[in-house]
Amino acid sequence: MALRLHNTLGRELQEFVPLNDKQVGLYCCGPTVYNYAHIGNLRTYVFEDVLRRTLEYLGYTVRHVMNVTDVGHLTDDGDEGEDKMIVGARERGMTVWQIAEHFAEAFFSDLDELNIVRPSVICKATDHIDEMQQLVAKLEARDLTYESGGNVYFATDNFRGYGELALLDRQELKAGARIEVDDQKKNPRDFVLWFTRSKFGHQAMLWDSPWGKGYPGWHLECSAMSMKYLGESFDIHCGGVDHINVHHTNEIAQTEGATGHPSVAYWLHGEFLIMDTGRMGKSEGNAVTLKTVKKRGFKPLDYRYYLFGAHYRTQLTFSWEALSGARNARLAFNDRVAGLAKAAGGPDGTPVGELGSPARTAREAMVESISDDMNIPKALGQLWALMKDDSVPAADRLGVALNMDSVLGLRLSDVAAGGAAVLPEDLAALISEREQARARKDFARADELRDELRQRGVLVEDTASGTTWKLV
Ligand code: AMP
Ligand code: ZN
Repeated sequence: MALRLHNTLGRELQEFVPLNDKQVGLYCCGPTVYNYAHIGNLRTYVFEDVLRRTLEYLGYTVRHVMNVTDVGHLTDDGDEGEDKMIVGARERGMTVWQIAEHFAEAFFSDLDELNIVRPSVICKATDHIDEMQQLVAKLEARDLTYESGGNVYFATDNFRGYGELALLDRQELKAGARIEVDDQKKNPRDFVLWFTRSKFGHQAMLWDSPWGKGYPGWHLECSAMSMKYLGESFDIHCGGVDHINVHHTNEIAQTEGATGHPSVAYWLHGEFLIMDTGRMGKSEGNAVTLKTVKKRGFKPLDYRYYLFGAHYRTQLTFSWEALSGARNARLAFNDRVAGLAKAAGGPDGTPVGELGSPARTAREAMVESISDDMNIPKALGQLWALMKDDSVPAADRLGVALNMDSVLGLRLSDVAAGGAAVLPEDLAALISEREQARARKDFARADELRDELRQRGVLVEDTASGTTWKLV
């Protein structure tokens, strides 16, 4: 069953054919570590994790590279505004190096809690300044740069095919209005490769370079690091949809400008998580973090399960009610898994090769769904249907659930082994009600609910990192 992926380059579903047999090179733009990731950012990382798991499930070996941006990303994706790292450091009274370390650690801990497999290579921009400078020198030698006002710019007019990914020729009229005009630029779409004299004088991280002491433009790091770790041409590059127009368009210009041949075969972009008030963002002031999700009594895996309700290319509007629904569904799902493990007489289930015919057919249908541009909502629906089908032996149903979990990443083998306690819906609702009472500082009501839960066998504890519960 061939894997089909939606390639932004061409805007169509295409059969996935790797450049090197079963070895896949995958590059995912990582976080700018100036603040906590919000759950919108995390949606993109869950989508990328599901992609990696799907590839591995289908028998590919994946080299997954992720950068960490710790310099040069301005508050506007063009060349306007301040370096986000400086803003973050000022707000928290820390150095840029301290906030980089702090937020990178927080980010990877969020990934672990969401059961996102760590990338094979994690690379920091500030560790690759030499590679970035070498890339600028290559572009300079190919007449793709100019210096103006103290900065080195990429000359988009000299790169044939600029903007193909973003279909810029079709968008030009619309987009022209949105571009800030920097009078140092020959074309408004040109972008900075190396800043020496910038609009703000207090950049904390500076490096010597042939063009003067300065620091790299944001787009440069992803071209330099993807080439270093995956080669000049590789299979898949991912990010959120906001990166199509500027960041990824400029990455293509830099990489292909330097090498003279195509860089990435498949570009995949995840749609946004939005709030009912509009786009979720750190600058919009409506960013929800995983910490807040936990404080409200949810598990990170409830959020992962919630995301599986929508295809990655569909915009998803976040609400606490919908997250509550997903938590209840996940608890019911875990309940089934635990029940099947009990009925099957052990936590393992039937190995895939020995499945009886109905379970095998159901699994094949799920593999077909994930092969269809990772249709996880459909695969999950099919898995639910199988789990409820009492005509199929419990061990077979469990075997399929555990097998598909290598793509879903819901830690079902812990559930089957009895490692994860399952909380019935009505008790989960009481915990959530107690969280809401605490949030509005109604401690009397929160205490009442704690007592009620205690009587029903659930011990609730409030810790610095949120509320935990255990069955007693
Ligand atoms: P940043 O740290 O801002 O560079 O963003 C990290 C990743 O999150 C990028 O791949 C963005 O495209 C993605 N992203 C940003 N906002 C959202 C959102 N609201 N929903 C989904 N992905 C997002
Ligand atoms: Zn990038």
